[in-house]
Amino acid sequence: MVTGGAGFLGSHLVDLLLTRGHRVVVLDNLVTGSVDNIAHHAGDPRFRFIQQDVTEYVFLEGPVDYVWHFASPASPVDYLELPIQTLKVGSLGTHKALGLAKHKRARFLLASTSEVYGDPLVHPQTEEYWGNVNPIGPRGCYDEAKRFAEAITMAYHHEHGLQTRIVRIFNTYGPRMRTNDGRVVPAFIGQALRHRPITVFGKGSQTRSFCYCADLIEGIFRLMMSRFSQPVNLGNPQEMTVLEFARAILAATRSRSRIVFRPLPQDDPRQRRPDITRARELLAWTPQVSLREGLAKTIPWFRTQSGAR
Ligand code: UDP
Repeated sequence: MVTGGAGFLGSHLVDLLLTRGHRVVVLDNLVTGSVDNIAHHAGDPRFRFIQQDVTEYVFLEGPVDYVWHFASPASPVDYLELPIQTLKVGSLGTHKALGLAKHKRARFLLASTSEVYGDPLVHPQTEEYWGNVNPIGPRGCYDEAKRFAEAITMAYHHEHGLQTRIVRIFNTYGPRMRTNDGRVVPAFIGQALRHRPITVFGKGSQTRSFCYCADLIEGIFRLMMSRFSQPVNLGNPQEMTVLEFARAILAATRSRSRIVFRPLPQDDPRQRRPDITRARELLAWTPQVSLREGLAKTIPWFRTQSGAR
């Protein structure tokens, strides 16, 4: 069972699971996901899609071995628009997904986020760091929902002996991100392909590090198959400023766009880079795809999206 399996990362996970011989049930309410991301599996007897909100009771006949809980809006623009749905899917939705896993005696993996570290005061971020989150700021709905999701996941692990895994996902990109989801990768690529101004927020001195989706999904698969129930960071430790990233997009798209500066959104984390020592040691995992290679796989996909040339 993959909740959020019609979303960006969920659908890449579904592809990998089917390739590795699993049967997959996708549960998605399509609030931010799209059937376009899973349409290529229609007719495959090992694949099933249920359009449902995971905050409602999840009924599924037959055995389930693994529950991968990916459902949630994940872009700042989306969760600003959908703060209550974001809080509900992280809390009530995680509760339902855990309940299903418990009932089926399945192993459970929570897709958590680097946002649990908020605007971090420790750099790079290790899993031991507790974070610096503003609960009532614009990102609070997402950050606190995911922090609650981690807490209830650990509670099910301790109280019910459920086999649980928690991955903290850092910025990830690739084909199937929505052009208009507001995140920096689709925003800059979309603007560059249309030769429109690249909107750098603030001075662009805030940092991020960008992981290609195939690397991330491989790490998540390894984590589920591991025996480790503590949180694990997954992301690419190659850190750059947003301004440097804008220049990288301009070069990769050979765009004539100019860079313009817009106000920095409230509580935008000033720096972010995963410490991936734990993933390296436990899962023998490191990202394999450089930013250049990843963009070379991603930009052609955005070219095929309507509106972009
Ligand atoms: N950003 C930007 N211009 C945009 C969209 C985003 O400069 O058009 C910045 C944003 O302020 C943040 C970084 O890019 O510092 C990454 O933003 P994103 O929305 O992708 O996710 P975040 O990492 O903040 O959760």
